[in-house]
This record gives sequence, C-alpha cells and structure tokens, in this order.
Amino acid sequence: MKRLFAVPLAAALALFALPALAEPVKVVATFTILGDMVRQIGGDEVAVTTLVGPDGDAHVYEPTPADARALGAANLVVVNGLGMEGWIDRLVKASGYKGPVTVTSTGVKPIAGEEEHDGHGHDDHDHGHGAFDPHAWQSVANAKIYADNILKGLVAAAPDKAAVLRANHAAFEAKLDAVEAEIKAALKPIPRKDRKIVTSHDAFGYYGKTYGVTFLAPVGMSTEAEASAGDIARMIRQIKKEKIRAVFVETIADPRLLEQITRETGARIGGRVYSDALSAADGPAATYVDMMRHNLQQFTRALAPAS
Ligand SMILES: [Zn+2]
Repeated sequence: MKRLFAVPLAAALALFALPALAEPVKVVATFTILGDMVRQIGGDEVAVTTLVGPDGDAHVYEPTPADARALGAANLVVVNGLGMEGWIDRLVKASGYKGPVTVTSTGVKPIAGEEEHDGHGHDDHDHGHGAFDPHAWQSVANAKIYADNILKGLVAAAPDKAAVLRANHAAFEAKLDAVEAEIKAALKPIPRKDRKIVTSHDAFGYYGKTYGVTFLAPVGMSTEAEASAGDIARMIRQIKKEKIRAVFVETIADPRLLEQITRETGARIGGRVYSDALSAADGPAATYVDMMRHNLQQFTRALAPAS
C-alpha cells in the first residue's frame, strides 16, 4: 500500500520538475537569417520566433500584435542593427519587453549607406536610408561576428547551458569556415575584371567587398513598378559599357525583356538569389549556409567564361 502510493508521487514530482529544467530560452529574432543563426547555436536549448518570415522583407515590415506578444514573452531579442529594422524600437516599446537585445552586427566594420548611381537613386525597396549598408551578413567573415554576438547573448541568458551553446557555436563556425572556403575557391579562377554582376536589389555590398565581386544596381529598377522601356534601355547601355556578364533581375518577369537584354548585351540572366531572407524550409536557401552556397552557384554559373 505504502509503496503503491510512493511511486506515483515520485513520478508526479519528476513530471513537475522536468519542464522547469528543460525550459528553452525564448528568443525572438527579427528575420530568418538571424533566426537560423540562433537555431544553429541554440539548438534544443532555444525556442526561436522569427518575426519576418521566409522571403519576407525586413526593411519595410509592419509588426503585428502577435509579434508584440512574442516579444513580451521573450528572454532575448536578436536584431541586425545598422538601420535594418527601422520598426524594432517601436515594437520593443509597445511590447513592454525590458530584457537584453543582442545586436548581431556589433563589431562589424560597416560599409557606408547606399550611393546614388549616376544621379539615379534606385528605390527597389525602402533600403534603410541610413548611414550604413545593413546587409553585413552577406560576408561570411561578418557572419562569424554575428555568431559570436549571438553566442554571447545566449550564454548570458542561459549560463547553465554555456557548454552546449559553445559546442554548437564551434560546429556552426566550422560550417561557416567551409562555405567561406568554397566561395573563395569558386571565384578564384574567374579574373577579377570579369566578376561583374547586376542585381536589382543592392544587397551585396559586403559580399562584393569581401570576395572581390563588383555588384551594380541598375538605374531606376523597382520591385514595385514594372521596368519602363527607358529603364531597360539604360540597363542595356550599362551592361554593355561595364562588360557585365551576369544579370540577376527578379523584377523583370517578362520573358521578352529578358530575351532583349540577353540578345543585346550577351549577358546571362541568372536565377534567383537570396539576400535578405531565407527560403521556406523546402526551398534552396533554408539556412544561412545553404543561402550562401546557393547564391555562389548562381553567381559562378553566370560568371563562368563562355565556352
Ligand atoms: Zn535589403
């Protein structure tokens, strides 16, 4: 009788104690690239909520009441900084969140904000308008700084989990080293003067600076409006003048325009590249490392000398 009573009591106590021990650190990350990094380093020790989802635009995001609730319940908030998330301060204030905020770009050497190209500002989307280019994660060297900052934030939030967090961080850093070596090796055979790419989204400044690729954002291209005939003509002139080999222009969906650009310039039209957001889980860029690898394949395929 006594024994029958004792066993369920012990079980009940164990059940009561377990959730407290296994409670993950609740982290809110502003967009998918940061969310992935937190997951890589936090592993099972974190529960990550990402505010701007796959393929979303973190520059112009409008937070929801659910976002404020997620922040209100968070132990740690992880942001990019450098003016990327113009909406985050208001959201933090509205949510009542008083906890720590990890600014992942802390320690990155920032590139100055977007320049006007030949007097034509490109307005593809509301790109920060700040003093700095926020897309620092596009250099893997910077991603390592991001990872260090995230590790620091997670260890401070959950010091009892420091050992496993450090082990996860080391594993992630090894992946970053590997993909960085791949990028350098793949670009090496392509002469520096041939590494010129046009994108409609001016998000590859850090990539270009780190890996020696010239990225040009064509004049007057917009993600909202359709490219005008004048836009296309200017773009064709620029592609010819700069002898650009590869063009990544997601916004020009009209196949006749793509044909016109390839016919008149000889440039190749590249596939989809990911800059500010990861793909959905079943897409080609579900993690940061997958994104860098996917973009590299797209860039090198487009830049490879014509045979
Ligand atoms: Zn962007």
